[in-house]
Amino acid sequence: MNEDDIFAKIIRREIPADIVFQDDRVTAFRDISPQAPTHILIVPNKPIPTVNDVTEADEADLGHLFVVAATLAQREGIAENGYRLIVNTNRDGGQVVFHVHMHLLGGRPMGRMVAKPA
Ligand code: 5GP
Repeated sequence: MNEDDIFAKIIRREIPADIVFQDDRVTAFRDISPQAPTHILIVPNKPIPTVNDVTEADEADLGHLFVVAATLAQREGIAENGYRLIVNTNRDGGQVVFHVHMHLLGGRPMGRMVAKPA
């Protein structure tokens, strides 16, 4: 666990972010480099580095990510048209920040599921 990763600092409000939701399990904030009109990161407050580190003890926190995603999608007005949830893992998954997070992307058609490498 890395209590000093950038998202842990956002969760503790030590560095600024546009936080749109927070409770005792999860924090959600707008991505600093949005890839769609809505691009929110939904993050367990517990600093789990990658999905590879998830255990059964994390089921409630990680299940809650989906509840918060659904709530925020409604709030953003993208629920009916639809949206994409992404969790990247390690190098091939394109993970850059090693604190598990779910991307909530919407507000435009999201295209095919994944881009082919150039
Ligand atoms: P990953 O590739 O790890 O799934 O995605 C990490 C995401 O975190 C990227 O979309 C990136 O723009 C976002 N990000 C990285 N640093 C910060 C930050 O300091 N603040 C916010 N709000 N987003 C960040």
